[in-house]
Amino acid sequence: MTGLKRQTIVIAGGGTAGWSAAAAMGKVLGKAFKISLVESEQIGTVGVGEATIPAIQTFNKVLGIDEFQFMKETNATIKLGINFENWLEEGHSYFHSFGRTGLDHWALGFQHFWLAASERGLTEKTFWDFSPETIAAMSNKCSPSLAYAFHLDSSKYAGFLREFAEKHGVSRIEGKIEDVELDPSNGEIACLHLEDGTQVKGDFFIDCTGFRALLIGEALGVEYVDWSDMLFCDRAIAVQTDLLGPPIPYTRAMAHDAGWQWKIPLQNRVGNGIIYSSDHLEDDKALERLLANIDTEPRTNPNFIKFRPGMRQKQWHKNCAAIGLSSGFLEPLESTSIHLIHFNILRLIRLLPLSLTNERAVNEFNEQIFGELETIKDFLVLHYWKNNRQGDAFWDRCRSVKVSKTLDERVNLFQETGTLFRNLEELFSENSWVQVLMGQGVIPNSQHPVAANMDESSLVKLLNGLFDTTHRNNSAFDSHEHFLTTSFGKHDAA
Ligand code: FAD
Repeated sequence: MTGLKRQTIVIAGGGTAGWSAAAAMGKVLGKAFKISLVESEQIGTVGVGEATIPAIQTFNKVLGIDEFQFMKETNATIKLGINFENWLEEGHSYFHSFGRTGLDHWALGFQHFWLAASERGLTEKTFWDFSPETIAAMSNKCSPSLAYAFHLDSSKYAGFLREFAEKHGVSRIEGKIEDVELDPSNGEIACLHLEDGTQVKGDFFIDCTGFRALLIGEALGVEYVDWSDMLFCDRAIAVQTDLLGPPIPYTRAMAHDAGWQWKIPLQNRVGNGIIYSSDHLEDDKALERLLANIDTEPRTNPNFIKFRPGMRQKQWHKNCAAIGLSSGFLEPLESTSIHLIHFNILRLIRLLPLSLTNERAVNEFNEQIFGELETIKDFLVLHYWKNNRQGDAFWDRCRSVKVSKTLDERVNLFQETGTLFRNLEELFSENSWVQVLMGQGVIPNSQHPVAANMDESSLVKLLNGLFDTTHRNNSAFDSHEHFLTTSFGKHDAA
C-alpha cells in the first residue's frame, strides 16, 4: 500500500555526490518522492575532484544540462585524456586518450596493424600518432568531434547542481548531523538528528557524507573492504595556483619516487595535488615536493587528505545507499570517482523498487558496483605494476604487487598475442587498456594473423591514409582557448 503515499528520500551530505544525487533524483523522481538534502557548511566538502571522463556527458544529458552554461559556471576546460609522465621510467611519457586510435577491424584492434608495420620496419610512427585526441591535446586544440570530458571547479560544480536540484523541488536543510537513529524493529534508518535539535525523518536515505560515511558505516556498520595491499597511495595534498597562459586540454599525471602529482587546468586557475604512500614519504616532505613543482605561489592553503583505498562491502544496505566517498575510494588516477557517483545514482534510480528495499534490487545494485570497481581497480593497479622505475622503494614494491588473476591473465594474453579482452560492461575501452599497457612497456610479442600476413603495400597504405586523415582533421580544429569561449561554435565569445 506504500505506493500511494508520497515517500521521503533524504540525502545526507552536499558535496559533488550529494548534489549530483539531488539533481538527478529531483529531476527524475521529484514527482514521486519528497526529496531533501542535509549539509553542514561548518564541515564543508573534501574540496578536490576536478577531472572527469566522457561519461559525464550522459549524466548531463539525463539532466538536460546545457553544456555551454555548465562549462561557464564551473570554469570548465576540455579534457582529452591524461599525459602520464615518468611512469614507465624517468623521462618517458605517454598519453591515455579518450576515443579511438586508428581504425579497428571487427576482429582485431588497430594495435595489431600498427605492431605488424612497426615490426617489419614499415613505419616509424608511434601508436599515438594515430590517435586524434592525443594529436589535438599535444597541439592544444579541440573539436566537438573528439571524445572529451571536462576539468571543472568542484565547489562551483556542487553549487551548479544545487541550483538545478532546488529548481526541481529538492529542499535543503542546513545543519550538522549529530546522531543517526535506527528503527529497532528492523534496523533501518528512521531519522537524522541535527545539532540544533531538528529531526529529519525519511523512508530512504542516501549517504553522501564523504569519508565519514555517517550512515552506511557508522550507523549501519557496513564494513570497508581494504585494497591497500594493491594500491599503495593513501595520502594527498592539494593546492591551487594561478593559470599562466592558455589552459591545456588534458590532465598531467607526473610520477615521483613515492607516487604521483596532478596538474588540472581550469579556465581561471590550476588545481595541483600530490598523491603518495605514507609508507614511503612523510607529509612535510610531500608538501615540499609539491610546492617545488607548481607554476606560481599557491593561492590556497594546502589541503591534506588521508584515504584508504577500498570500498564498502555493500553500497546499498537496508534503506540506505552510499554514493560518493562514503561508498569507497580507490584513488584519483583515472578520474573515476565522479563517474561512479553519476552512474550509481542512475543505477539506483533504475533499480529503486516501490517498497524501497527489495532484496533482489539491493543485491543487483551491490553486485553491479562490485564488478565495476574490481575492473577499475585492476586498471589502476596496472599503471603502477608495470613500471621500470628500478631502485625506488615505492615502485619496486609496485612491481612485486600480487595482482588479481583476471588482470594477470589479461596482461599475459596481450603480451603474447596483442589481443585485449574485456567484458562489454566494463568502463574502460579496449583502446584505453592498449594505450596504458603499451605506455607502461607491455609490447606484444606477436600480432593477429590477419595483420601479420597483410602484404606490405596494403599495410603502408592503411597506416599512411589514417595518419594523413588524422593530421589533416587536426589542422582544421579550433584552439582549445578559442573553443572554450565559443563552446562548440554555438555561442558568441563572452
Ligand atoms: P564530500 O565532498 O566530502 O562531501 C561530504 C558532504 O557531507 C559535505 O557536504 C559535508 O558537509 C557533509 N557532511 C559530512 N558530515 C556531516 C555531518 N555530520 N552533518 C551534516 N553534513 C555532513 N574524483 C574524480 O572524479 N576526479 C578527480 O580528479 C578526483 N580527484 C580526487 C583527488 C583526491 C585527493 C581525492 C581524495 C578525491 C578525488 N576525487 C576525484 C574524488 C572526488 O573528490 C569525490 O568523489 C567527490 O568530491 C565527491 O565527494 P563526496 O560528495 O562524496 O564527499
